[in-house]
Order: sequence, then C-alpha cells, then structure tokens
Amino acid sequence: MEKKVKTMAKGLLIVISGPSGVGKGTVIKKFVDDPELKLAFSVSMTTRGKRAGEVDGENYHFVTKEEFERARENGELLECAEFVGNWYGTPLSEVERLRNEGRNVLLEIEVNGCRQVRNRVPDALTIFIVPPDMNELEKRIRGRATEPEEIVQERLAKAQKEMEMIDQYKYVICNDDADLAADIIRLIIRRYMELAEQ
Ligand code: 5GP
Repeated sequence: MEKKVKTMAKGLLIVISGPSGVGKGTVIKKFVDDPELKLAFSVSMTTRGKRAGEVDGENYHFVTKEEFERARENGELLECAEFVGNWYGTPLSEVERLRNEGRNVLLEIEVNGCRQVRNRVPDALTIFIVPPDMNELEKRIRGRATEPEEIVQERLAKAQKEMEMIDQYKYVICNDDADLAADIIRLIIRRYMELAEQ
C-alpha cells in the first residue's frame, strides 16, 4: 500500500494593524510567545530614527533612505509604505523562509502595507485593532510624549484615516481589555491553523 507522506503546511501570514497608541504591542506581547501558535515576528526595515530603548535588528532594521530605496528597487520587500515621513517595509525573503519552516509569520504593519499584502497573499489573516473610543486614543498618543506636537498631530490624523479603512480587514477587534483582545486573536489563529492542516 502506498504510504501517505504528510507534508508540513506552509505557515500562515498574519497581519495586525491598528492606529498608533491603540496598544497593538501590548496585545501582541500577550500571545506572541504561546508555543502552540508557532509565531515568528517579522522584523521590518525602517528609515525612522531609533527611539530610546529600541534595538537594531530586534525592533526594526534601521536603515538609511538609500538602503531602503535599494531594497525596494531590488524587489526585496513584500510591501512597503510611508508613514508620517518615514518609510517602513517587510523583507520578503525572511517572511518566506519562516513560512516555509511552518512558522506563522506576524506582521505589525499599517493599512497601506496590508492592502499590498492582501493583493499578493489573498489568504493572509488580517486583523485590525480599534480603541474603545478616539478620545482614549488621543490620550494614549499624547501619553507617549516622545515626539513633538507636530508629529502627534500627524499621528492623530493618520489614526483617523486608518479607522476609515478597517473594511479591508477580516477581523476587527476592540482593545478595551488587552487580555481579552489577545485571547480572541489566539482563538482566531488556532482556528486558521486547524483549517490550514485539513
Ligand atoms: P512606529 O514608528 O510607531 O514604530 O510605526 C509606525 C507605523 O508603521 C505603525 O502603524 C506600524 O504598524 C507601521 N509599520 C511598522 N513596520 C511596518 C512595515 O514593515 N510595513 C508597513 N507598511 N508598516 C509598518
């Protein structure tokens, strides 16, 4: 009898977006190390300056505009977008390598990047995190106080615009309670993993 060899399923591509200050990082931290989810975080490339406490190669690959442009022209990016004056992009080869190893790759990217990912990988799992209300969001953006008022204003305007684009996401989750939001995302990922294995 012919023996059936089960090949390893390619890992999922998961996009998480949400306006600045919505608490994406806090929610993601709560489930990213769950071994059952087999997640790998994709480290983006950015032309933005390093913030206090950020580590090159961990938070981002911090590059010059020229280096970024070269990567883009050479087709090395799965997607890229300008955000409040800086460029951000996802290195394609790293995403593919991890997915081919069966890891579920998590991208924390903004809305224009998500649109490009959806065009290239239509079965990507896309999730948008919304704040309980916009006043709360403004408080959180201001609470960071690491950036000048002009940038805060740009981030607020961008947040408003991003909220208008949530219909391109498969799931919209409110971060009223970070533990609950993380639990819901965990459930969705598990379900997608089950479906991918069938
Ligand atoms: P921040 O400067 O606060 O680290 O990030 C600004 C925005 O850029 C956030 O909304 C973040 O999700 C997004 N971002 C980070 N990396 C990427 C990326 O590789 N591609 C895209 N399109 N957006 C990114």
